[in-house]
Amino acid sequence: MKNLVCVGSLLFFVSFISGCGPKESDIDRIQWFTMGTIAAVQSTDSDTLPKARDVSQTIYEAIEKRFSAWNDASELAVVNASAGNGKPCAVSDEFFTLATNAWAFCRASDGAFNPLVGSIMKVWGFNGAKTVLHLPTSEALEQAVALADWHKVVWTNQTVLLPDPGMKLDFGAIAKGYAVDVVFEKLRSAGYTNLLVDLGGNLRATGEAAPRRGGWRVGIRDPFKKYGILATFLLKPGEATATSGNYERFVTIEGQRYAHIMDARHAMPVRGMAGVTVVAPTALLADGLSTTLFVLGPNAGAKLLKNYPGCDAVWIPDASGKVILLATANMAKRINPIGKTDFTLSVVNP
Ligand code: AMP
Ligand code: MG
Repeated sequence: MKNLVCVGSLLFFVSFISGCGPKESDIDRIQWFTMGTIAAVQSTDSDTLPKARDVSQTIYEAIEKRFSAWNDASELAVVNASAGNGKPCAVSDEFFTLATNAWAFCRASDGAFNPLVGSIMKVWGFNGAKTVLHLPTSEALEQAVALADWHKVVWTNQTVLLPDPGMKLDFGAIAKGYAVDVVFEKLRSAGYTNLLVDLGGNLRATGEAAPRRGGWRVGIRDPFKKYGILATFLLKPGEATATSGNYERFVTIEGQRYAHIMDARHAMPVRGMAGVTVVAPTALLADGLSTTLFVLGPNAGAKLLKNYPGCDAVWIPDASGKVILLATANMAKRINPIGKTDFTLSVVNP
């Protein structure tokens, strides 16, 4: 499969939809598994791809080593293990940088984005926690809410203090976007042009997929089908996109599926939303916002986006019947339906 590729089950790159672009066979893609997902680099200049892959993978490995919620030796795990011991825990500059970004999303969204979501993930059986057979009790949920009180965390630029035992940082909502930006900057400054970087559907591109195309055409996945896209939009040079979906990771408890994005105010998985795709000037912004907007939903989400210039979003509610796309005005203008896809597109005004 060379050119229409399912990336991390989130977004599809679709270069076959083109007025004047290269033929399907002109764009090459190398993909591999890393950071728990599929990574890829794509370009019409296939000779450059092996090196781009190596550069990317070195960066992904280093970032995973620091921020993995699964690896007991990661810096994140060491910090989380210090919770409740009363002593500030030393953190690296990179850790502090990512945490600063996480706290910015958290404050901006009044805790809809919550980097202390780790204890809630555990209660629901995510991130390597024991499989949960029965719904968590109200006491367990209350305790998880208390452990997600991000106001209590004390940061200096070299240390963090997690005051309560059991508090857990989790940067799963932004680490991949951050990683894509690091790779993007590295490859761009090394002279790569017309290259698409993809980490599990977190995409950022230099240049364009073909002369005069004006960017890279990407597809919004149909969250109700295993494969298939609903629509496409053009990712302009330098722009990034990310998708949060309820179909990516989930647990099944007592016959019901619960997805991995939490409303930390109630320690409950968000219901009613199938997917949110964000376009932003950086992959970190796209990733952080896609999770935040998944929790907030379209009305509060569109209001929040007023504070983020250059960022737009489309929400797909989890409902039966005809698929509904709710998009900010700019996003609605960019969305192109494809083939026989059948959905309703409405604009959400802030
Ligand atoms: P994404 O796929 O980028 O939306 O990130 C989802 C991941 O972010 C989850 O697997 C958790 O690790 C983490 N997460 C879940 N809920 C939240 C939340 N409300 N705020 C911040 N991170 C979250
Ligand atoms: Mg995210």
